[in-house]
Amino acid sequence: MKNIAAPALSISSSANLMPEVLAAYACTAAQSRGRRMPEPPAPTRTDYQRDRDRIVHSTAFRRLVYKTQVFLNHEGDLFRTRLTHSLEVAQLGRSMARSLRLDEDLVEAIALAHDLGHTPFGHAGQDALNECMRDHGGFEHNLQSLRVVDSLEERYPQFDGLNLTFEAREGILKHCSAANARALEQLEPQGVGLRFLQHTQPSLEAQLCNLADEIAYNAHDVDDGLRSGLITLDQLQAVSLFHRYDAHALAEFPQLQWPGNQRRRVYDVIRRMLSAQVYDVITTSTAALQVCAPQSADDVRHSGPLIRFGDSMRQESTELKRFLFQNLYRHPQVTDMTGRAKQVIADLFSAYMAQPNELPVAHASRVQAGIDKTGGSGSTLARVVADYIAGMTDRHAAREHTRLTGLQLLD
Ligand code: MG
Repeated sequence: MKNIAAPALSISSSANLMPEVLAAYACTAAQSRGRRMPEPPAPTRTDYQRDRDRIVHSTAFRRLVYKTQVFLNHEGDLFRTRLTHSLEVAQLGRSMARSLRLDEDLVEAIALAHDLGHTPFGHAGQDALNECMRDHGGFEHNLQSLRVVDSLEERYPQFDGLNLTFEAREGILKHCSAANARALEQLEPQGVGLRFLQHTQPSLEAQLCNLADEIAYNAHDVDDGLRSGLITLDQLQAVSLFHRYDAHALAEFPQLQWPGNQRRRVYDVIRRMLSAQVYDVITTSTAALQVCAPQSADDVRHSGPLIRFGDSMRQESTELKRFLFQNLYRHPQVTDMTGRAKQVIADLFSAYMAQPNELPVAHASRVQAGIDKTGGSGSTLARVVADYIAGMTDRHAAREHTRLTGLQLLD
């Protein structure tokens, strides 16, 4: 039998994949500023597809499934976790990106990676770890997401991290203090820290992910909040965005009033809220882009924010966020849990600082070698401990806490 050679792949460079469908102001993989370690292009994927794929295969991404968004992982099977939140951000982001002719793959990569640096136990965990790290350079989850993809993932023989493109890294670093930006700029001149010193904008794809994040958590926290019973439909009538689309839903489908239909009613309202916000972003941003008329992705970086809500949707989204803050994130049942979660993080930090030999070998060896992967400022031990704790899932942190202290603060 004759051997038939596989046909050679006809796509030789990622640069040629459908650039014509993207707008002039989109980030295109062909014009990427590239990776810190140069690599040959992949035969069938753009650089941004490859970024997205590297993120999906990373260890930190898999851990998101067991990390708290608002409710602790073990509190219920149906609540969002960091993983499902990130997937919802990616869905909303891709949907808006396609309408705006932006690069969907870059949006997806940023969305899937944006929360990789989150500690266990949500914002309570981050606050506690930041407090522990006060004398060691602090802890900030956005910067930690960048550390994960730049340094902490250990998957390649040639380099630390995932060696993502500049544009993916730029989008992942959503916020950054001036002090941290200066430190980044020293390590990487003209790099992802610079915009926080020059007060310029990131790409439209990055701006879009920030809004997709806000739209996603506002909507799913309404859903999870109602499911938990900590907030009620009656309370939500005070929130104009919810009230309006609840009225629309009931006008079109009066049967949603029946108590047995409450879940359908909530989903219908959330679906309408999501659509209204997505269309508002697309309409407002399209108009802003027409006025500003940027000719390239770099023009965008020197303009004002161009991906945004219209004024009234901005107000309504902020109103909803404020409602959730006051009634859900500060609900006694949530704050009681966050108080205990903070204690777990603080105890873990003290325990590893006092007994570094309790760290797993790979982490302990970083301490012995003096490798903190930050460029050298602060205590290596403290940074290694913070990296280790930040990478934990909720349940691993709870188990480690019990092992090291004998206490069981979270059941
Ligand atoms: Mg998020």
